[in-house]
Amino acid sequence: MKKVLISGYYGFGNTGDEAILSAIISSLKLEIPNIDITVSSARPEETEHRYSVKAISRSVREVRRTLKRTDLFISGGGGLLQDVTSLKSLAYYCGLLILARIERVPVMIFGQGIGPLKRRISRMLTRLAVSGCNAIAVRDEGSKRVLEEIGVRRESIVTADPAFLLKPVKTSRFDDTERPVVGFALRAWQGIDFASIARAADAIGERLGGTTVFIPFHQGRDHSVAEQITQRMKRSAVVVDEVDLPAEVLGVIGELDVLVGMRLHSTIFAAMQSVPFVPISYDPKVTEFAMAVGTMEPVSSVNIDADMLVSRVENILGLSSSLDGGLSYPIEDMRLKARQNAVFAKQLLKERRVLGIRFDALEMDEAADSIERCIAEGRPHLVVTLNAEMMVMANSDAAFKSVLEKADLLIPDSIGITWAGKLRARVPGIEMIDELAKRAAGKGYSLYMVGADHGIAEKAAAKLRQKYPGLRIAGAHSGYFTKAQEAELVAEIQAIKPDILLLGLGMGKQEKWIAEHLHTLGVPACLGVGGSFDVIAGNVNRAPVWVRQAGLEWLYRFAQRPTRLKRLLALPKFVYLVIRERGLM
Ligand code: UDP
Repeated sequence: MKKVLISGYYGFGNTGDEAILSAIISSLKLEIPNIDITVSSARPEETEHRYSVKAISRSVREVRRTLKRTDLFISGGGGLLQDVTSLKSLAYYCGLLILARIERVPVMIFGQGIGPLKRRISRMLTRLAVSGCNAIAVRDEGSKRVLEEIGVRRESIVTADPAFLLKPVKTSRFDDTERPVVGFALRAWQGIDFASIARAADAIGERLGGTTVFIPFHQGRDHSVAEQITQRMKRSAVVVDEVDLPAEVLGVIGELDVLVGMRLHSTIFAAMQSVPFVPISYDPKVTEFAMAVGTMEPVSSVNIDADMLVSRVENILGLSSSLDGGLSYPIEDMRLKARQNAVFAKQLLKERRVLGIRFDALEMDEAADSIERCIAEGRPHLVVTLNAEMMVMANSDAAFKSVLEKADLLIPDSIGITWAGKLRARVPGIEMIDELAKRAAGKGYSLYMVGADHGIAEKAAAKLRQKYPGLRIAGAHSGYFTKAQEAELVAEIQAIKPDILLLGLGMGKQEKWIAEHLHTLGVPACLGVGGSFDVIAGNVNRAPVWVRQAGLEWLYRFAQRPTRLKRLLALPKFVYLVIRERGLM
């Protein structure tokens, strides 16, 4: 079972953030059945109870402890990476991203809004924290621009706010209320003039009749804003009691005839349910969303003029009633994009992308299962046992890079790959052969082995058969052949139809060879296995266990064959390229 940890501004009673959390949880559960979700929250008990997940406190210590047994760290929305509300909170969220990286846990930014980042230090910190993430999905184009401007080189994808996936709970609060019901979802902000808003609310009521309603979006805070405004109003108004679940708030917004919305998620909730809305912008995110759904330009929060607000409300209501079926906002596309967030998370649990190469985050059993699936499928597959030198080679050899891109399965063979992909364990090619031979003997798959000097593949085959009696070796052939012999070899394999082809011609050469002959050969699972036959045959010793455990098998192999110097030099280059990609240089 895959374990995911979600962090954000949760458990503070902010409807927007709670809506996001609720939608993240349900979309993850839908996309990845059997997922184990933990949320870091200011009120862990409440979060556990509300969403049926595990919850921990927001303390860095507890997050760190949980990260140690986490497969994916999700930095959830809404706008965590901004320095308008406070620098301290930006430092906290960036700190968690960096902490996850230290704990070698893959990280995803899940449909977040990024910015504004007013201070230089904030931009630097965000660049450092975000560059190390494995997948960056942002909720709007503006956020993507911010990341580019601050120098994040890793590609970010524009998805949408997860809250688009929330389903409303019908509330029927205003069934017996005089219409139109005009809702206000406001927050305190510098420069906002409550007296103007009170005048506007009164004027709207006088012109249109109906009911004025205030809907708090942040427990405690927005309620007092509503009270300050209603105290200044001449007409009476309703302040909606603090509603517990975000889906209920969504239901309340759905009952309105028009919304004057300052809280971003109040406008999102209105658009989701075709409720006409007048946006009041205190932050670029509100403007960005209003533009995205093609509504009128928002009123600036510092410039609220009562008459202007009244005419905006009248206009939008007039427009809505003039249209058949009322106003509707183009949000279907955003709903689809919002679903993409969980799809990326699912991919991330299974694959990594480093230096432009995608590979599979698999452990031994999973890798062997995948190879068995290739066999069951029957069509030919190229399986690469990926190491760091190959990545460096792909960096300067376009043909090789395209072979890697076409490969069906890339198994993390070396310590460099597990480091760069933040994986728990490597799947050494030689151990993979052993596992496959074991499964093949049990299930009757046949193996063809090509590679190494004359007689070695045969010797390795005999060793495997000795270890796994009943193993079907369809053939063994040396790795040195002329063009004419090559044609014969290909024809033979094609005729024999083995289930698995192990090809040990050395990295690069073997993958290119498989790619070239894949469809002629028609073998369901073709694996490049490098110098493994030499080791299985007993001609070359494998590093002692303690050397392997220290992650130094590559050094041992170099000591055995100093001609590998050129390959050894690829390792520091690999480290450099990966660190540069993460934006640490
Ligand atoms: N080899 C081969 N044919 C060739 C070149 C190399 O069969 O034309 C064999 C070589 O004998 C050795 C393996 O490929 O068994 C390469 O071993 P190395 O340890 O260099 O490969 P790696 O596992 O590092 O890719």
